[in-house]
Amino acid sequence: MRRHLTVFVMLLCGCVSALPSPAGEHPDWTTPLPPFRLADNLYYVGSRDLAAYLITTSAGNILINANLVSSPPQVRASVESLGFAWKDTRILLNSHAHADHIGGVAQVLRETGALDVVMEGDADVVRSGGRSDFAFGTDGIEPFPPARVDRVLRDGDTVVLGGVTLTAHRTAGHTRGCTTWTFRTHLSGDPAGRERNVVIVGSWRPLTQYRLVDSPGRPASYPGIRADFERTFATLRSLRADLFLGAHGSYFDLLGKRERARVDGEAAFIDPEGYADAVRRAEAEFERFVAAEAAGA
Ligand SMILES: [Zn+2]
Repeated sequence: MRRHLTVFVMLLCGCVSALPSPAGEHPDWTTPLPPFRLADNLYYVGSRDLAAYLITTSAGNILINANLVSSPPQVRASVESLGFAWKDTRILLNSHAHADHIGGVAQVLRETGALDVVMEGDADVVRSGGRSDFAFGTDGIEPFPPARVDRVLRDGDTVVLGGVTLTAHRTAGHTRGCTTWTFRTHLSGDPAGRERNVVIVGSWRPLTQYRLVDSPGRPASYPGIRADFERTFATLRSLRADLFLGAHGSYFDLLGKRERARVDGEAAFIDPEGYADAVRRAEAEFERFVAAEAAGA
């Protein structure tokens, strides 16, 4: 009953497209989207919903997200059609260790020789091919090819390459090492010297099968999951996003903004109010989940 109620709540919130489940149920996960520029050194190279980002620097490129096990050829084709060399990918970063964002990691590392940089909490999950995920084997939490991890991050750590600095914010709960990335960059329509804040949200949603409340006989999905989500929302509220991006296009209306970009250019993705709104809605949804569990417990 609780599960049906939770699914109903998620339907109300329009969150279903963000659930991990077999790719066949999500054609937007595998349908290519022509790659495009988001800022001077930032490009969208993902599919219609599974986001991947290329950040170019003077010392090679950073890729965020390898996506599904079937995605690397799509991401590579996007990178190359923009005129960049796949082999220039020096660092691979991740949003979180679920198969829809990380299944292609092993192949990308093999083909590019990039360093794999993963947040603590997700590093073991990457190494185990998903099998050490606290929710492994439940709805949509599937195995993927295991991959090596070259550097394990802690909350607030930075990744630096060719004069670009990204900050890793541990926004745990959806996975234990779910990561929101921030950095500053210049947009082509802005005056020289003006920089904007970019926020790439890792995820903010409990899946329907998660238990957030620890109660007798019904333990939480992992000890501290509720506190992790609470810290995650405190972190997300503290960030200011000029460019609001995320691991799924559905988080930030990728397709709608892509349409508006035909007229407005890169400015179509400037959406600080949309970001603040989306964080508020996600936090309210989390609180409804907690309340529903507490009422049923
Ligand atoms: Zn996920």
